[in-house]
Amino acid sequence: MSGKAWLIGAGPGDVELLTLKAVRALGEADVVLIDDLVNREVLRYAKASARVIAVGKRGGCRSTPQAFIERLMLRLAGQGKTVARAKGGDPFVFGRGGEEFAALIAAGIAVEVVSGITAGVAVPALLNIPVTHREHCRGVTFITGATRDGAKPNWHALVASGATLVIYMGLKNLPAIVAGLRGAGMAASMPVAVVQNGTLPSQRQVVATLAQIANAVAQASLQSPALIVVGEVVHYAKTGAVEALARKQA
Ligand code: SAH
Repeated sequence: MSGKAWLIGAGPGDVELLTLKAVRALGEADVVLIDDLVNREVLRYAKASARVIAVGKRGGCRSTPQAFIERLMLRLAGQGKTVARAKGGDPFVFGRGGEEFAALIAAGIAVEVVSGITAGVAVPALLNIPVTHREHCRGVTFITGATRDGAKPNWHALVASGATLVIYMGLKNLPAIVAGLRGAGMAASMPVAVVQNGTLPSQRQVVATLAQIANAVAQASLQSPALIVVGEVVHYAKTGAVEALARKQA
């Protein structure tokens, strides 16, 4: 007897950004494994009888090891349970969903992915920033600011691409990211937005030029989870902070 697993993207925070499919999958689950990035309000769509297990993989915090989460899912599904794994944003965008999916498939468990709204699109949108805009960029690139092996991104290629850069998990490395971009020739005046807890009532953001962003973020002591958006499209940020800064510098 084998159960079923759902890998559910729970969106960036605001529960209204859950999909209808995510709501249905949560409602079918006997067990919900909930990531620490996921708003607990999503549990209102789970059955009252569902068992809820908090698991998480936040860098620097006490967290449940990935191997343990995968074993737990396999065990529960193996017992015939319907397991819903609720992950922040989209499960296949920096969420290790690919690893979990592979582990479930290898064990012969039926698994279905429910796409979610990734923070990289929804969080800039909350500041009125379109991640692409044909007058300003040729696309958007999602990158991680913290790699497992410490390898650096190819900053020259990224800058040359002319794409908006959306950087996940980069807050701690912000000074190094700025140095990488400046070293690759990006203008010091390029606007950058850093947004903490995007789409939630606790959302905070700082918008400044590439030259000033690291200081401004340190001053505001923004915390993780935070998203970094770099590119001309950040001029649309509704705070108007970039223009204010430019006026001050002029
Ligand atoms: N699968 C998720 C990303 C997981 S990686 C997604 O698709 O959105 C975790 C990183 O995502 C965080 O370190 C942060 O950079 C970003 N992130 C997720 N939710 C966020 C939010 N509400 N506000 C700002 N950044 C967020």
